[in-house]
Amino acid sequence: MFPLGGRKSSIVKRLAVCLALVLGLVSATESAMSRDKAPSRPDPIGDLLAEQAHKGSQSSMPIVIGLKLTETTQRTRFAIELSDPVDVKVYTLTNPNRVVIDMPDVLWRAGADARPSGRRAVKSYRYGQFRRGNFRFVVDLNAPVKVEAPQIVQPEEGFSFRLMVDLTPSTREAFVAAAGWPLASSTLATSAAPPPAPSVPGGREEAQKRLVVVDAGHGGIDPGTQGRSGIREKDLVLGVARELRKALEATGRYRVQLTRDSDVFIPLRERVHIARVAHADLIVSLHADSNDHRDIRGASVYTLSEDASDREAATLAEKENMSDVIAGVDLTGENNPVASILIDLAQRDTMNRSVRFAERVLTTLPRATMVRPTSPHRAAGFAVLKAPDIPAVLVELGYLSNGADEAEMTKPGWRGKVAGSLVAAIDGHFSAETGLSVRQAAVP
Ligand code: ZN
Repeated sequence: MFPLGGRKSSIVKRLAVCLALVLGLVSATESAMSRDKAPSRPDPIGDLLAEQAHKGSQSSMPIVIGLKLTETTQRTRFAIELSDPVDVKVYTLTNPNRVVIDMPDVLWRAGADARPSGRRAVKSYRYGQFRRGNFRFVVDLNAPVKVEAPQIVQPEEGFSFRLMVDLTPSTREAFVAAAGWPLASSTLATSAAPPPAPSVPGGREEAQKRLVVVDAGHGGIDPGTQGRSGIREKDLVLGVARELRKALEATGRYRVQLTRDSDVFIPLRERVHIARVAHADLIVSLHADSNDHRDIRGASVYTLSEDASDREAATLAEKENMSDVIAGVDLTGENNPVASILIDLAQRDTMNRSVRFAERVLTTLPRATMVRPTSPHRAAGFAVLKAPDIPAVLVELGYLSNGADEAEMTKPGWRGKVAGSLVAAIDGHFSAETGLSVRQAAVP
């Protein structure tokens, strides 16, 4: 871990200088362009300033304007070009071996990514918001490395700052010995308070409405799977989640809470926690799948089970549970979500109710989208379905690896139809459960 920083007193001054320079540059570019009557060219700096003017809350965020990756046998260097110096923490983790670079929120505007050759120490990398106030850059490794102390330098020319992280060859033993969570980071990962339970405006009537928690899978640094058109699972499912909220609220019968309403990463156990703190009556988690067999298509519905119903369900649960690993969540002291899930007796009743709801979804969902023709309801150990007292299902809306499914899922109107079919299933679920509890109450 290498905390960096200082020089903060000069940041404001530097930023002012920087903005003045940028503004000068922009107006110079503009006049040059109007003189040349050139067709509109990309103007990243001008766009950024316009964007920042619109988003007041982000105006103080450092901007990442470039990323360079240099690979030799002796050294791999990530050079991240920033508008302002930032505090960074760099550390390594095992299983899988990776380097994590944590920094405050930044606006990533680096353009095309410099891809690693894959033949040297770096296998791949990803980046994104990890949580509010924390942007994360994760490097997957092919070989053990030593992280040299990161440096922030200000090039003589230009007004940006350059964060340089160098990785040099190391041994397996030395890598394992140096790996681990920095103290501050593990606190960050475990102490994040969930959003407060929604206050219920409107008094008793509002409070008596059922609360449905709609969970859009993935987010932030974890994009989920990706379609050939470039659509990402995290964006697709957030769109459906918002549509479902709108449709549920429009009935006047439900309150709705989303586990995330933006492109932010939320650890799996925190999603469960959000639903429990809010006293949710039902959890619907939304995902999209992918498969190496590109002809497989259609939606399916999953419920929690200790024993997976089949191999594919087990593999899928493992993949979805990897979300925390992908984002670099500190799982120290947690039950490994990938390991088998122990279900206690109290959970059995919840599981039966989940199964009934899943079957109900499978009666309404085919009105909106194609459903897998064989065994569309399966079960496995999904960490996000683990609330012991709240019925929960995970809906895989289709396969982004299948061209027909992808086309279907990106059609205008598809989200609304899917939301409508889920509302019908949710209506059916609650009226059946209410009937059940009335009948049970009548028996002395
Ligand atoms: Zn997913």
